[in-house]
Amino acid sequence: MTEKPLDIAGAQAVIAKHCRRLPSSPVAVDEALGLVLDEAVVAAGDVPGTANSAMDGFAAQPSAAGTRLTIVGESRAGHPSETVVAAGEAVRISTGATMPQGATAVAPIEVVEESDDTVTLVQELTEAANVRMAGEDLRAGDEVLGAGRELGPAEIGIAVAAGRATLNCTRRVRVAIVATGDELRKPGEPLKPGELHDSNLTTLQAMARQAGAEVVSAAHVGDDRDATEAAFAQALKAADVVVCSGGVSVGPHDHVKGALIGLGVEQHFWRVALRPGRPTWFGSREGRLVFGLPGNPVSAMVTFLLFVAPALRALQGRRALESSAAVLGESIGRHPKRDECVRVRVVDREAFATGPQGSHILSSMTLADALAVIPRGEGSLDAGSPIELLALEP
Ligand code: AMP
Ligand code: MG
Repeated sequence: MTEKPLDIAGAQAVIAKHCRRLPSSPVAVDEALGLVLDEAVVAAGDVPGTANSAMDGFAAQPSAAGTRLTIVGESRAGHPSETVVAAGEAVRISTGATMPQGATAVAPIEVVEESDDTVTLVQELTEAANVRMAGEDLRAGDEVLGAGRELGPAEIGIAVAAGRATLNCTRRVRVAIVATGDELRKPGEPLKPGELHDSNLTTLQAMARQAGAEVVSAAHVGDDRDATEAAFAQALKAADVVVCSGGVSVGPHDHVKGALIGLGVEQHFWRVALRPGRPTWFGSREGRLVFGLPGNPVSAMVTFLLFVAPALRALQGRRALESSAAVLGESIGRHPKRDECVRVRVVDREAFATGPQGSHILSSMTLADALAVIPRGEGSLDAGSPIELLALEP
C-alpha cells in the first residue's frame, strides 16, 4: 500500500499482480465469442466429410470438349445421389453436394449446353476440375485450435466444423458497477438545477461488455456513507470486479474509500500521476478487485481503459492490448507532474487533439479515436514528436 502517486505503468503493475486467471467451464459455442480456450480442439472427422462440388453444374468423368453426356441423376446439398456415373453420363450437382461415385470432375453450368436430358461440354473437362476433396480443410484428428486461443468468429466457426457444440473456456469475468453522487438522475429523467444525467453508469457497463465481461449489477448510490457501504457489500457478493465512479476524492461527501476500507477491502493504491484520473483507487478483498474511478466522465473512461480493461482481459486469460506509435500533428503543452492522456484524432499516423480537454468534456471523447500519452515535463511537446497511442476500443 502506498499514498504516493504511482505513474501509469506502476499502477498497472500493481493491478497485474492481483489478477488471477478465472476458472474454466464448458460454454456453448454461441456464448463463446471473446473467451479464451482452456483445451485443444481436435477435428472429429474430415472437413469436408466427402469429396463435393465447388460449383453448380454436372459431375462426370474427364471428357473432351464437345462430348455429349446423358443426365442420369441429381446430387443436391444434403441429398447425395446413389447413381454410379459411367463414361458418357453426368449427374446434375449443386455446390457442396457429394460427388457421385464414378465422377471425378464438375463442368460448371456456365460451360455446358443443356437440352432435355443431355449436356454438351463447351470446354474440355479435366480430372478433378471444380472438386473439393474430403479433408481439404481439416483432417480427422488434426488439432484445429490450441489451448489459450482467443475465440473470434472464425475460431468459433471452425470449432463447430470440427464437431463441437461446447468449448472449455476461461469463464467470463463478472463485473458490478456502482455510480455515486446525489446529483445524478437516471437516463431520460427530468433534471432540477444542479442535477445531471448519470452517464457513467451506462458508459462503464458498455466498456465492461466491450472487454468481454458480464455485467451482473449496475447501481446508483447517493453521497451517504451507509448507503455506499451497503451498495459495495451487495456488489462484492456477485462480482469478480467492482467498478465505482465518483466519490473517491477528499471532499466531505466522498465516501467510497471509507466504505471500502470499512468492508475490509485492502487498498493497494490511491492516486496516479495522471491527467485526467488522478484520484483513482484500487484495492482487493479475497481475490475480488475493486476500482474506484473518478466521477468526471472522461476521467472515468480514461482510467477504465488504462486500469480496468487490462485487468478484465487478464482475468479472462486474454492477452494485453498493445499500444501503437504515432507522432504529434501539433504542439501540445505538458503537465509538469502528471502524464496526460489527450483525446486525439489520428490522420496518417499524426495525432491531433480533438478539442477542449477538460475531464467533463465528453464531446471531445466522441471525436477521438485514441488517447495519446503526453509524458509529464516542462513546456510543450513539439509537432513531430513520437508518442504512444492507446486505442479507445479493444
Ligand atoms: P466526483 O468524482 O464524485 O467528485 O465527481 C466529479 C464530477 O463528475 C462531478 O462534476 C460529478 O457531477 C461528475 N459525475 C460524477 N459521477 C457521474 C456520473 N455517474 N455520470 C456523470 N457525471 C458524473
Ligand atoms: Mg461525487
